[in-house]
Amino acid sequence: MTYPVEHQQLAGWAKFPVIAADVATPASIEEARDYVMRQERLIARGNGKSYGDAALAPHVLSTLALRHIRHFDASSGVVDCEAGVLLSDILRVAVPQGWFFYVTPGIKHITVGGAIASDVHGKNHPTHGCFSNYLISFELMTAEGQVVHCSKEENADLFWQTCGGMGWTGLILSAKFQLRRISSTQMLQHTVWSANWDELFAALSGNREYEYAAAWVDGLAAGSNFGRGAVFFANHAEGSSKEPLVFHEKKPGNVPFTPPIGLINRWSTYIHNKMYLRKKPPGDYPTDLDSYFYPLDGIRNWNRMYGPRGFVQYQFCMPEHTAYDGIARIFQAIQRSPDAPFLTVLKRHGERPAEARYSFPIKGYSLALDFPRTRSMVSLVRTLDDIVWAAEGKIYLTKDACSDPKMGRIPLEDFKESKWWSDLRERLAMLP
Ligand SMILES: Cc1cc2nc3c(=O)[nH]c(=O)nc-3n(C[C@H](O)[C@H](O)[C@H](O)COP(=O)(O)OP(=O)(O)OC[C@H]3O[C@@H](n4cnc5c(N)ncnc54)[C@H](O)[C@@H]3O)c2cc1C
Repeated sequence: MTYPVEHQQLAGWAKFPVIAADVATPASIEEARDYVMRQERLIARGNGKSYGDAALAPHVLSTLALRHIRHFDASSGVVDCEAGVLLSDILRVAVPQGWFFYVTPGIKHITVGGAIASDVHGKNHPTHGCFSNYLISFELMTAEGQVVHCSKEENADLFWQTCGGMGWTGLILSAKFQLRRISSTQMLQHTVWSANWDELFAALSGNREYEYAAAWVDGLAAGSNFGRGAVFFANHAEGSSKEPLVFHEKKPGNVPFTPPIGLINRWSTYIHNKMYLRKKPPGDYPTDLDSYFYPLDGIRNWNRMYGPRGFVQYQFCMPEHTAYDGIARIFQAIQRSPDAPFLTVLKRHGERPAEARYSFPIKGYSLALDFPRTRSMVSLVRTLDDIVWAAEGKIYLTKDACSDPKMGRIPLEDFKESKWWSDLRERLAMLP
């Protein structure tokens, strides 16, 4: 069989860690099976948009050549596609016919396989849960090269272990899932500013008439200013049936090369935070799907701004009863450290279905923080791990690069020794 296998220096979106890996790109099930049967210590990789080491191993199977939408039923909104199809591929086909995702992350350039393996969530988790809520079925290739059909009725254990299972159960080959009807591509956004932590928490917890909500927090604001930020709420607008639906994708800007020194530091963060709120005054604004859901897609290669050392995204979720104090403790620990988060996003989460054991969100609040990678970074991450652990919280493995193994991560060194998906699947049971 002739499919490309390239030796590469490979990393996730945050460019840390970087490892040497053989990356195979099969274009059919037979080619995928061939590579699966040849390799031990293999992980599937979609579009590499997980931040840390989730899609890294000595042998990697890229799904990017498995990129066909097999069928889209414009009357029922059911998509049937290969695992390497990007969410953006689906948007271009589905939006003009009046369909959108029930659940979408803040990036459209991820694969369907990656969306399932991380069981991604969006800004509407309290009402709509994770991607798995609308997943009908998928085909999974096991370590033995068998193709197993998984749904909530058939091979249900394997179905739920794979949703949020970080590729530890096998290779997702294709999937079927349900989209939602939209009658307009406009979003009605409502922005609220907060002057302190009480106001921020109250705004994010209230305003339940909006389906979508996410808050930006000024990670440098301390003392009585702690919690200064903005909450961005939104609902889909209603349109008339005559209105043609077009998915307007803004032409993205680009960071053309990696500067020799990172551009993100405490001072640029200070200036960014000062300017950020001015650009987002409180009030009601119409906006469009691309601008509301995918603002970071507006700059290609923005990860290069962090320079050659890359960055670390740390995202955790704490249950409702610990989150108010626990998140405040996280910010206090960061403010005592030499590190400053450039981007901070706070979200509220709803109940997790009992079967969705490996989905990241639990009922409570999650916070995502992007830090330039410094010498003190690992030590800060371990301090944050301890606070999250004490608050009965958990971390998001798709973002992680250097947390304590007690948080569920498999360090790359262990991964090298770990034999196969069957071993990895057993490790799922040990996740906190
Ligand atoms: C700017 C940005 C914003 C984001 N916003 C959100 C957000 O709002 N909510 C959220 O939940 N996530 C968010 N993410 C994270 C992202 O959605 C996930 O990391 C997603 O899994 C990436 O998909 P990918 O195709 O790039 O997969 P990769 O990064 O290549 O892989 C991610 C994981 O999926 C596994 N995997 C991939 N394909 C398969 C397959 N075919 N079979 C089995 N396993 C597979 C890999 O082994 C790995 O464990 C964001 C990421 C970025 C860069």
